[in-house]
Amino acid sequence: MAEKRDYYEVLGVDKNATPEEIKKAYRVLGKKYHPDVNPGDKEAEEKFKEVGEAYSVLSDPDKRRQYDQFGHQAFEGGMGGGYSYDNVDFQDLFSSIFGGSDIFGSFGDIFGGGARRTSNGPSKGANVRAGIRITFDEAMRGVSKEIEINYKEECGTCHGTGAKPGTNPQKCPKCDGKGQVAYTQQSLFGISRSIQACPECRGTGTIIKDKCSACLGAGYVNRKKKISVNIPAGIDDGQSIRVANQGDPGSKGGPRGDLLVEVRVLDHPSFQRDGMNIYTRVPMSFATATLGGDINIPTVYGEQKVFTVKAGTPSETTVRFRGEGAPSVRSASVKGDLYVTLEVQIPTDLTKEQKELLKAFDDACHGKTPDNGGGTAGKKKKFFK
Ligand SMILES: [Zn+2]
Ligand SMILES: [Zn+2]
Repeated sequence: MAEKRDYYEVLGVDKNATPEEIKKAYRVLGKKYHPDVNPGDKEAEEKFKEVGEAYSVLSDPDKRRQYDQFGHQAFEGGMGGGYSYDNVDFQDLFSSIFGGSDIFGSFGDIFGGGARRTSNGPSKGANVRAGIRITFDEAMRGVSKEIEINYKEECGTCHGTGAKPGTNPQKCPKCDGKGQVAYTQQSLFGISRSIQACPECRGTGTIIKDKCSACLGAGYVNRKKKISVNIPAGIDDGQSIRVANQGDPGSKGGPRGDLLVEVRVLDHPSFQRDGMNIYTRVPMSFATATLGGDINIPTVYGEQKVFTVKAGTPSETTVRFRGEGAPSVRSASVKGDLYVTLEVQIPTDLTKEQKELLKAFDDACHGKTPDNGGGTAGKKKKFFK
């Protein structure tokens, strides 16, 4: 057996590399040597395993410590907690670390097609996006809305094959139905291989000699479809709702993609929202703030709450109403809070009589409140003269 290479060397990172650097190196090398990119390439497969093995040790703080101390011996037979690689499927490891969609989404780019693992198996159709606008009140209560989407429907003439009735799609001769072709290039640095979507069949593996005239070979036709979307109470601006199976059709019998409806919530003239909490401002008169009294507080659910203002409440006092905020989209019984800022109104259109009463009040105050009575009362006197 050939001497095992140092794991840090395998990943091309420094002994003091951070977990992020290790993960990044693995991501790059894993993609480079991934069997899907190098079909039938034994050397690449070995490299892929070597990289996976190095990563499985260096990404685990305990194993990395053991490796730093004992080297490869740490994981060979005899040591407590020995670790065998024979049972590890590195392909699975790779997918589990990066997530199927992420990695195969990237390969999709390489192959120029959708996010599919091989061109021959069934694959799910693409997700389709749509948008909808609702009012603030609708967002609070929940609403069902009808939207019109572009829906790709199987062509009734060719039943989705894209071929003229009576004919069938043929296996692509260039890629022999695989949908991919490998290119080998000799350069100064050796032989490089790359896999690309077959240019002849654009990755489908089949070619259509006589195209269906109804769909021009696409296999589907576009039509407008009305869909009813249930928007749960509590939805916030920018959130999306997934409607399963209303996206693009899958290929080779795969399921349809989903419809993702992004919800825009229009602003409300007096309520603002932050998460599940709602903020608003409510006016109160100078007399109510001073003497105390009941005021009506509007809520997002339409009804008014009576709130008793305590005598001597300053302007800009904020009061919290528990459970009067936005509902949780997951559970309508869970609600945020309503924060009401009380704002003392300064009257601007007083009658002569009101002005005189206020002046009399101010005079009565004079000298009674040494902190500020003198100064403000003096100014007011000038103003009312
Ligand atoms: Zn057709
Ligand atoms: Zn082809």
